[in-house]
Amino acid sequence: MEKRELDGLYPMLSVEEARERVLSRIRPLEPETVPITEALGRVTAEDVAAAYDIPPHANTAMDGYAVRAADTMKASPEHPARLRVIADLAAGYVSDKEVSPGTAIRIMTGAPIPPGTDAVVRFEWTRRNGDWVEITTPVSVGQEVRPAGEDVRTGETVIPRGIVLRPQEIGMLAALGRREVVVTRRPRVGILATGDELVEIDAPLAPGKIRNANTYSNAAQVKKHGGIPVLLGIARDREGEIAKKLQEGLQQGVDLLLVSGGVSVGDFDVVKKVLAAEGRIDFWRVRMKPGKPLAFGYLEFNGREVPVIGMPGNPVSVMVSFEIFARAAILTLLGARDLEPFSVQATLADGVPEKDERRHYVRVRLEDRDGDFIAHPTGDQGSGILSSMVKADGLAIIPEDWDRVEAGARVRVILLR
Ligand code: AMP
Ligand code: MG
Repeated sequence: MEKRELDGLYPMLSVEEARERVLSRIRPLEPETVPITEALGRVTAEDVAAAYDIPPHANTAMDGYAVRAADTMKASPEHPARLRVIADLAAGYVSDKEVSPGTAIRIMTGAPIPPGTDAVVRFEWTRRNGDWVEITTPVSVGQEVRPAGEDVRTGETVIPRGIVLRPQEIGMLAALGRREVVVTRRPRVGILATGDELVEIDAPLAPGKIRNANTYSNAAQVKKHGGIPVLLGIARDREGEIAKKLQEGLQQGVDLLLVSGGVSVGDFDVVKKVLAAEGRIDFWRVRMKPGKPLAFGYLEFNGREVPVIGMPGNPVSVMVSFEIFARAAILTLLGARDLEPFSVQATLADGVPEKDERRHYVRVRLEDRDGDFIAHPTGDQGSGILSSMVKADGLAIIPEDWDRVEAGARVRVILLR
């Protein structure tokens, strides 16, 4: 096909348009219940509300003496308030004694505030003398007291749906008395590499061959973002073989297919033909570098449309395309609220040559210099230079409308760690 015909058929989309078209085809998967010990990194499919206050009772934030604040009003080192100590209270126990004026209870951090008291005097402000304690500093009502519900109130939604669970949420679930949590099922993501030149990791490297890297970088990315990689191996650049491997993926119940290679305009770029013949192409080509020849479409299986993201084969292109499109697709399948990768503002240490009208994603190493991030491009930015990814902390986004990229420019950097 002539270039002009292709342009008419497949207008190049902006990153935003392309992402919207991908995500508009994707719905969150079903929920499932898992023990919280297995829930790290999963996405909540329920609003988690508190069934009771945390803490459930007012308790002391310090080791010291529970008192009536009024009893300490005039206390000073020269004229301490003298109170009789009527009991000792450890965390985990409730006082059966009531504090009346002139008395106190010795109390340990976390123990419930005893009846009759309204403040705690820390040990440092006291002197013990037999059954008596001398208070050398006045305290006010509520001092060192953690009220019931200080952390979480009954009925409050503490963890909303769509949150990727981190260790702190797991701890909160335990504090809420939740042994299990409802999360979205993890998507199964089929990964197919295409190319006559590819051999597997342990196969001999015959002349003209290279090792299949993309399957493994993509599988790791899928895992990192909460999916289950389903490895479909390598297909030669033949329509029949690619179609067959994709079909195998569908048989294995994948929710999303990632294909690398075979989507540009070379003689053997047959992935688009397979999509057009077996399903549909939604769009082809995105105004980005690397990653321009991205193809998106879907295949029908059991009355369901399974989205297919066809990514260019260069090892950097495929990883960047994943970060921009497949990552958001997986998070959408997971019902996650926040699809944006974490990013920081940084200053470019060097200019970047060959800026064109596309959005460029430049691999950078970040240096924290006096609180400002300096972004150092990690050498040759060719889309086959996988070592530029290995050295990178992030991807600096160079907007479409810049015609030059000079040292000192302020850029946003998507973090890769
Ligand atoms: P393609 O997008 O198929 O034209 O491939 C572009 C470049 O990426 C070529 O140099 C391929 O050899 C290389 N390539 C394609 N697939 C892979 C892969 N799975 N692992 C490593 N390199 C690849
Ligand atoms: Mg190829």
